[in-house]
Amino acid sequence: MSQGSGTGRLIVLSGPSGSGKSTVIARALAAGDLPIRRSVSVTTRPPRPGERNGVDYYFWSPAQFDEALQNGEFLEWAEIHGHRYGTLKREVESHLRQGYSVLLEIDVQGAQQIRQQFPEVTTIFLEAPSLADYERRLRQRGTEDEASLQRRLDIIERELAHAPQYDLRLVNRDLEQTVAQLRQLLRTIISRSPKAPSGA
Ligand code: 5GP
Repeated sequence: MSQGSGTGRLIVLSGPSGSGKSTVIARALAAGDLPIRRSVSVTTRPPRPGERNGVDYYFWSPAQFDEALQNGEFLEWAEIHGHRYGTLKREVESHLRQGYSVLLEIDVQGAQQIRQQFPEVTTIFLEAPSLADYERRLRQRGTEDEASLQRRLDIIERELAHAPQYDLRLVNRDLEQTVAQLRQLLRTIISRSPKAPSGA
């Protein structure tokens, strides 16, 4: 798969659980005015209340995931919180083919795999203002039991250590402001010519 031939760009956005990533992305793309499509990932985790198959994720069984993995259908994948998550090549290719840029909402492990394959990718890291904010936001969401919440808090600290590897960083202090900042960044990314391959 090549990003260079069309006009579409590949953009990665990562951020720890509780950074507000999904909400910020959904709001930034809601108007449909930007030529950017979010790639729907596959996950083996069960859906949370309100999540829809094919919209938030493709919810697959571990056996379905294994088969796709063996068939080389994933652009990247990672195991996170005991479940597997992956980006389907065909999902990204179909958006690029239609001339859209593609936003991958993936974790730091996935971002590393994408950077290796596509050095021209632009990566954005979204973070909460402080560690206490993550805990408050995860508790407010109310979708995790206590053990899962503690596991996620440990992982957040490890993920934050990867932030310096990203091209751009955004701190989510205020939702409206962050959405506006992300939209501005996205407009800039898709309007400029592709980043030169590293070493060029
Ligand atoms: P959640 O279970 O809270 O929806 O997502 C957990 C983590 O998985 C988040 O950091 C999210 O960005 C990441 N994630 C979602 N889809 C993918 C994917 O396709 N690949 C990778 N590597 N991470 C993903």
